[in-house]
Amino acid sequence: MAPDDIRSLLAGRSIRVAASECLLGRSVRWNGGHNGDAWPRQRLEKVFTLVGICPEVGIGMGVPRNPIQLVREESALRVVAVDDPKLDYTDRLKGYASEVAGALDDVHGYIFADRSPSCGLAGVKVFAEDGSFERVGRGVYAAAILACYPDLPVVDAETLNDEGILLDFVLSVLASYGVVDGNVGFRDLVRGLLNPP
Ligand code: SF4
Repeated sequence: MAPDDIRSLLAGRSIRVAASECLLGRSVRWNGGHNGDAWPRQRLEKVFTLVGICPEVGIGMGVPRNPIQLVREESALRVVAVDDPKLDYTDRLKGYASEVAGALDDVHGYIFADRSPSCGLAGVKVFAEDGSFERVGRGVYAAAILACYPDLPVVDAETLNDEGILLDFVLSVLASYGVVDGNVGFRDLVRGLLNPP
């Protein structure tokens, strides 16, 4: 693809990328807040159309809602209410991921909110019965989406504050869309489009 075609593809925001909805500045977090300012949202909104999805709101948990957390149950991870471990949302979140996955065929990347027991990609706290935790988990909704789309470019939003990770993610989304690195200076061209003068 010629440089002008890549410019117009990105300027037209023709490529759809899914994102945890709280990352788009929408107040859907359990406490009524959002995560819209923790990552370079405006830069990616200029080159992609970002499609927000909140699985916790999607299964009807409402805003505000009681917080949830990952716990280990035998070898599996479950998502339960912090104040009542008998309230288990695991199967509903997995079921919602199956529904959403059917509508992601035209999406070429997914940006997930860090540390969430639903959306976090890695390093999510997993609690033991005694209240101790290890940062070794993946959110159950994110895991279910990745099981359906193992080759989809995915990233934790806050890691995009690193310029190298940001550029690599944009390039992998372009590759998923079918734009391959066939031009001399392709990487520099895309870097320039992400950093307009
Ligand atoms: S991290 Fe996921 S589940 Fe939590 S508020 Fe954001 S979109 Fe919703």
